[in-house]
Amino acid sequence: MKNYLVWLAAVVLSFFAGAAIAQSKNNQPNIVLIFMDDMGYGDVEAYGGTGYTTPNINKLAAEGMRFTNFYAAQPICSASRAALLTGCYPNRIGISGALSPGSKTGISDKEETIATVLKKKGYFTGIIGKWHLGDYKEFLPLQHGFDYYFGLPYSNDMWPVNYDGSPVKPTDEAWGRKHTNPPLPLIEGNDPVRYITTLKDQDMLTTWYTEKAVTFIQQHKQQPFFLYLAHSMVHVPLGVSDKFRGKSQRGLFGDVVMEIDWSVGEVMKALKDNGLDKNTLIIFTSDNGPWLNFGNHAGSAGAFREGKATTWEGGQREPAIVKWPGVVPAGTVCNKLACNIDILPTLAAITGAPLLANKIDGLNILSLIKGDADASPRDHLFFYFGKNNLEAVRQGLWKLVLPHAYRSYNAAPGKDGWPGPTITDSTGLALYDLSRDPGERYDVKDQNPEIVSQLQQLVEEARDDLGDDLTGRPGKNRRQAGKTGN
Ligand code: MG
Repeated sequence: MKNYLVWLAAVVLSFFAGAAIAQSKNNQPNIVLIFMDDMGYGDVEAYGGTGYTTPNINKLAAEGMRFTNFYAAQPICSASRAALLTGCYPNRIGISGALSPGSKTGISDKEETIATVLKKKGYFTGIIGKWHLGDYKEFLPLQHGFDYYFGLPYSNDMWPVNYDGSPVKPTDEAWGRKHTNPPLPLIEGNDPVRYITTLKDQDMLTTWYTEKAVTFIQQHKQQPFFLYLAHSMVHVPLGVSDKFRGKSQRGLFGDVVMEIDWSVGEVMKALKDNGLDKNTLIIFTSDNGPWLNFGNHAGSAGAFREGKATTWEGGQREPAIVKWPGVVPAGTVCNKLACNIDILPTLAAITGAPLLANKIDGLNILSLIKGDADASPRDHLFFYFGKNNLEAVRQGLWKLVLPHAYRSYNAAPGKDGWPGPTITDSTGLALYDLSRDPGERYDVKDQNPEIVSQLQQLVEEARDDLGDDLTGRPGKNRRQAGKTGN
């Protein structure tokens, strides 16, 4: 009898110990966030991309959830990345546009990033790829919660080189923007390990990032990790290794997408080989839509209007795939509204990491990724661009576009890496029903005055809170970006 009781106690204890381990695994998945640069909504097969194959991203979608109404918070590099990493509308924290090399502005050390949040729970945190939140040392990733950094501090075209690989000359259109830029520094930790001076070097970026990502996964398999893999591609100038050159039906752009797909496959394979695939949450999305005036070197926004650097759907609606075995139902689609600012609070909710009292704008969307069909955590989303221009708001499937001027990139697309011209266009107040008109073609404000006034209320709330340069409203709750005096 005594032996039986001892045995019973051991069984009960091991049951609870096992449950505790399962619980802690569920609360501390490894997190891999793959972030593309300038990849549009239509640039992978799972979202209708054609002329190339993306079997690994297809597999990710088949084993996870594909979002169809997921947005970048702004349609441009630094602003979108600031939003992703802090959970804030980027104008709330003083980051806008695409920061130039040597910018005296960068991410403030008063803001939390996904990395600083996850470190509170013992995560090892790494970024491989493009940072773009300031390149002075105080702005670099190691000073903002990351334990490891390998990559470029800003965009891969911010160098003194033309898109055909020739040095920029005073007679070139890009001289004013580019001639003071240094060669592209490839940084490890806080210091450059080499400089990228030729298009041929850029051909290796995706391969180098992928090799580092695989090594990172191998080296940190014993503890929960956060890997932020921020590819420099498919931003121009396009680069692809010999493994994929000439492999697609879509020219160099398609070859680059196929190499990115290979990279996703290598990461998934590394997770599996190290026994981590069942306990890893993978997120795949992009910073903004395609840079359309690059023509055959630009991606596709699918059926959406315009692309990068506009608040039309093509600028901010992004592919977004989430895989987490046992939590995210496999092979599903989520049509609910969500944004990249929602990732930080969702990861905080999953891991139980506390957030600072600073106001953030992201919402916990764990209910969506668990497949709760009744959940709708995000009611509305504001579309800011420039420093602080409020250009649109979406609530449910209605989008109210406010009067504003914008640069259209569709006028006369360029070719083979050379940009075509942009033209200034403008819009008046317009209401679009995205359920019937995702391409924002037919203004229905006259037929729906009550919807217009409902959305105007939200606009007033945003102008009060975050401000709006288009109407001269300062906003009560904006914070300062980081500044350096160096
Ligand atoms: Mg970008």
